[in-house]
Amino acid sequence: MFAKRTDYFVESVIRDMTRLSLKHNAINLAQGFPDFPAPNELKQAAALSIMEDFNQYSITWGAKDLREEISQKAEQYNHIEADPESQVTITCGSTEAMMASMLALINEGDEAVIFEPFYENYGPDAAVSGAVPRFVPLNDDNSIDEDALNCAFNRKTRVIILNTPNNPCGKVFTKGELKMIADLCVDNDVIAVTDEIYEYILYDGKKHISIGSLDDMKDRTITISGFSKTYSITGWRIGYVLAQKELTSAIRKVHDFLTVGAPAPLQHACVTALRFPDSYYEELAAMYDGKRKLLYNALIKAGFKCKMPEGAYYILADIPDGVNMDDMAFAKYMVSEVGVAAVPGSSFYRSEAGKHKLRFTFSKKDETLQEAVKRLNDLNI
Ligand code: GLN
Repeated sequence: MFAKRTDYFVESVIRDMTRLSLKHNAINLAQGFPDFPAPNELKQAAALSIMEDFNQYSITWGAKDLREEISQKAEQYNHIEADPESQVTITCGSTEAMMASMLALINEGDEAVIFEPFYENYGPDAAVSGAVPRFVPLNDDNSIDEDALNCAFNRKTRVIILNTPNNPCGKVFTKGELKMIADLCVDNDVIAVTDEIYEYILYDGKKHISIGSLDDMKDRTITISGFSKTYSITGWRIGYVLAQKELTSAIRKVHDFLTVGAPAPLQHACVTALRFPDSYYEELAAMYDGKRKLLYNALIKAGFKCKMPEGAYYILADIPDGVNMDDMAFAKYMVSEVGVAAVPGSSFYRSEAGKHKLRFTFSKKDETLQEAVKRLNDLNI
């Protein structure tokens, strides 16, 4: 009765946990979105855009002023040259950017290399676009298993999906690692599709490097980012794709018929975001650093084992010894009995490893996190 492709994935477990959290009146550390206000200037810019009547469709691939600002930002921050007329496409969040890119690139049966743990969407992205996923587990210390990565590449490989800083494990890929991936892409004629939505959320002096800025990767990288996380506006759904001209043409065609365009008044307001001073980004990272430490300490105290993330705003934690529940059962117990919602680890793994993990976000007000800490303290295992 239904298309076969829908058999290969389920509805988002992350968003399902949000629904469960609301039902149990729990603290939602499941879905990664801020519960604090968006910057005032942005809210004003959005209201003004509507009053000034930016209320009809923008150009399907994005409002010109925003594409121009994105192009400048890409050059300065990512060291990527992208002509606003032919290499920048604005989408409904980076989620659409990823799906449109995959639909534009993949022929049925092409393979997609995906590091594990991975962001929940990449499985469905592969299923819908017809790609066969090839999962490459990261080592326990989050380093790359070079042999496993080498083995994953073959004649059928069309893309490798990267996510740096990484959701869920917080890894920030180093230049050496990206170079190694770039060499494999060049040798095997593979495109890197890189999701860099957390590019400004970095800790302990870590630097964000875009694989698209490396030699030989200019024409074989699709760089995806957006406004949701950097400016705390996840509900606006404004993302974008940078890619060379021919790839951009294909992506724009898919994007056009998927969504026509991203919300016009909000695109206009995002121009204001890209003009924020450097201090905005420093303060953002410093704010999340405090929240990271708060949640990390609470999880360790409650018996979880976890690493400090290097970037993004999640902690992937091993379920405490002595808990005789798998990730699903324990996540349900946590939300209904402890009052803290987290995401079951299996959302981020194809292998069994996820069954022993939960993912928590710290993209919440300090008082929300403190209430969660209180509840975690009462966790009696
Ligand atoms: N990226 C966020 C997360 O991982 C939100 C996911 C979503 O619902 N789109 O939690």
